[in-house]
Amino acid sequence: MSFSAHIITLFPELFPGTLGASVLGRGMADGHWQLNATNLRDFATDRHRTVDDTPSGGGAGMVLKPDILATAIDAVAPASDPRPRILMSPRGKPLTQQRAHELAVGPGVVIVCGRFEGVDQRVIDARQLEEISIGDYVLAGGEVAAMVLLEAVVRLIPGVLGALDSRDEESFENGMLEYPHYTRPQVFEDREIPAVLTSGDHKKIARWRAEQSLELTKARRPDLLK
Ligand code: SAH
Repeated sequence: MSFSAHIITLFPELFPGTLGASVLGRGMADGHWQLNATNLRDFATDRHRTVDDTPSGGGAGMVLKPDILATAIDAVAPASDPRPRILMSPRGKPLTQQRAHELAVGPGVVIVCGRFEGVDQRVIDARQLEEISIGDYVLAGGEVAAMVLLEAVVRLIPGVLGALDSRDEESFENGMLEYPHYTRPQVFEDREIPAVLTSGDHKKIARWRAEQSLELTKARRPDLLK
């Protein structure tokens, strides 16, 4: 069984979006992973297909109703479904490369995309949704956040990205940012490729890259070194 992602959203037509392009799209075509998107509105029970209601206690905006959302979650993933149930949420744990690796070796994910002010807390508790954030800013909905999460995860699924070893040196894989890259031409607007990279001395190149990686991380993301 390959990795299976299932999205619950009010905008299923946004998927696969970026996930259908390039290596991830090819990975899907090759059967390394699959994607389904279910419209939350299909589970509404009234004539107007209502999925949201005003916040208890007052205030602006609307809240996704717990009963409709729970029905959708149960239809997509009954209690026996082993996939983690994730809610995209600015209040969630920040997404990390490590969590992406963990998810990539699992059976897949069920992802709920919030809209409006978010979802009723009781459905988060009752269905034990794992809240994940993609950063300290507020989006209008969880769809792009779900794509970000899946893009990070799916490229790590064995077989999706061709060259395995191009991964180990990438940013965050070893707790550091990656070194700078260069390619031809040798001279671009009077700027040369650092001589060490064209020296052919692989030991020296590895040392230079490690130094660059450390310097960049110190300068830009000292928090990663702690
Ligand atoms: N009222 C909420 C924000 C709601 S934004 C708050 O202040 O916390 C509407 C939806 O967009 C959310 O339910 C969530 O699914 C999604 N979303 C917004 N920002 C996000 C982020 N940084 N990471 C992940 N999902 C986010």
